[in-house]
Amino acid sequence: MTYDFDLFVIGAGSGGVRAARFSADFGAKVAVAESRYLGGTCVNVGCVPKKLLVYGAHFSDDFEQAKGFGWSTGEAQFDWETLIANKNREIERLNGIYRKLLSNSGVTLFEGHARLTDAHHVEVNGKRYSAKQILIATGGWPQIPDIPGREHAITSNEAFFLKRLPKRVLVVGGGYIAVEFAGIFNGLGSDTRLLYRGDLFLRGFDQAVRTHLAEELTKNGVQLDFKTNIVQIDKQPDGSLLATLEDGRQLETDSIFYATGRRPMLDNLGLENTFVELNDAGYISVNENFETREPSILALGDVIGGVQLTPVATAEGSAIARRLFKPEQYRPVDYRHIPTAVFSQPSIGTVGLTQEQATAEGFNVTIYESRFRPMKLTLTDSAEKTLMKLVVDARTDKVLGVHMVGPDAGEIIQGLAIALKAGATKRLFDETIGVHPTSAEEFVTLRTPVMAS
Ligand code: FAD
Ligand code: NDP
Repeated sequence: MTYDFDLFVIGAGSGGVRAARFSADFGAKVAVAESRYLGGTCVNVGCVPKKLLVYGAHFSDDFEQAKGFGWSTGEAQFDWETLIANKNREIERLNGIYRKLLSNSGVTLFEGHARLTDAHHVEVNGKRYSAKQILIATGGWPQIPDIPGREHAITSNEAFFLKRLPKRVLVVGGGYIAVEFAGIFNGLGSDTRLLYRGDLFLRGFDQAVRTHLAEELTKNGVQLDFKTNIVQIDKQPDGSLLATLEDGRQLETDSIFYATGRRPMLDNLGLENTFVELNDAGYISVNENFETREPSILALGDVIGGVQLTPVATAEGSAIARRLFKPEQYRPVDYRHIPTAVFSQPSIGTVGLTQEQATAEGFNVTIYESRFRPMKLTLTDSAEKTLMKLVVDARTDKVLGVHMVGPDAGEIIQGLAIALKAGATKRLFDETIGVHPTSAEEFVTLRTPVMAS
């Protein structure tokens, strides 16, 4: 049987574009359908605009700290509209680059919503196309709990396009997006309060990282309100919002930003016309080859609910393209030692096991930890401290986890992820000569354990 395409990709986000481009470069006839924006979440309402806003927010500290170095900057003024307009221009430029990447690879792009009509057919803009293989790469979507007044709240999707910076904002959630946006709003001048339902935010991160970041955010002026949640939101006649909390407290604010996780984007996808199955959490269920229960349909990225990071989605896209169209170059995705950064202020960088995970897995751990004032801040009034921590297997001396809170943590952790992947021991860290004067050198000069089990 002949098909219109060898591979039809639904969704031109991080994973979909990678799979489409690589497959086409390997000689396959490929189409991709995109209903919203080229580049997907990461480029349009995720990693990229978020990082630009984080850079923007950091200037308030930079101006303050510049004084210690002899600079007088006058009264700093911030204009939200300029930041958003410049951010939008940059995103449009990136959309254009994605368009070119696809066309240069010979991928046919359909701009419209795609719907599966059966195991080998996709309908876009009223036309039906056949494909030997179909890849679902539709990503995720923010979700707000079902409470009265939820329509008054915003998510990251809207935050990137607000007309004005809110004077007061309540951030709800304790994951990546909540702490990143708390830092953005606070840095840009909003009176910011973060509400989290548990004892301490960033569940799953190393305990020392979580407590350290809580202390630093508090120093920076973010009000942290743990063990609480909003039960109702009311809009007041003057346009402000009133949030009623579980404990009966009421907080008045101008904006309520929810970052309470994301659901898979399956809206009107036509899964009912196929044998594709969902797992208990509602994500598309796949095997180790990213195959669904329907043999011709694969899925990757946020919609399968694994590690929801762009480099993971792109790695999955590469693996799928290679397995289908260049099997001699195929290698499975290695999910061990995935480094990650939270672009809070200060930022978090982490790779490998937390102390809690290592202990739970039965390792006897030796812990090395250092807290210090970064050199750049010694001439300033800033009381910010950097945290660096190594989790080491006492038996083999292997470094199991590296954790940091401080400036450029993401930049520093990338290289250390290679060391961990290579199986580096603490002794190898010690034998590595530092780069002086940097914060990063602290990772190779940690001599005295703070804890040995
Ligand atoms: P997506 O990139 O979401 O792409 C899916 C695409 O499919 C979208 O363009 C969508 O419009 C399209 N689509 C959906 N349904 C259809 C349909 N039926 N027909 C046609 N098209 C359809 N990750 C990091 O690694 N680092 C970060 O700093 C980071 N920051 C983030 C910040 C925020 C605020 C958010 C929300 C996410 C962030 N992420 C970050 C996560 C990252 O964006 C995702 O993990 C990544 O985009 C997932 O890629 P994907 O290909 O699975 O889906
Ligand atoms: P996360 O899953 O990371 O965090 C969701 C948070 O919301 C958790 O603290 C959770 O609490 C809380 N929560 C969930 N449901 C409720 C509820 N009903 N009421 C109150 N609180 C609730 O999701 P995010 O939205 O922050 O981000 C989604 C994903 O996107 C991340 O997991 C990450 O993979 C990716 N991302 C990556 C970034 C990066 O690489 N820098 C940046 C931004 C996003 P609890 O812990 O108690 O479950």
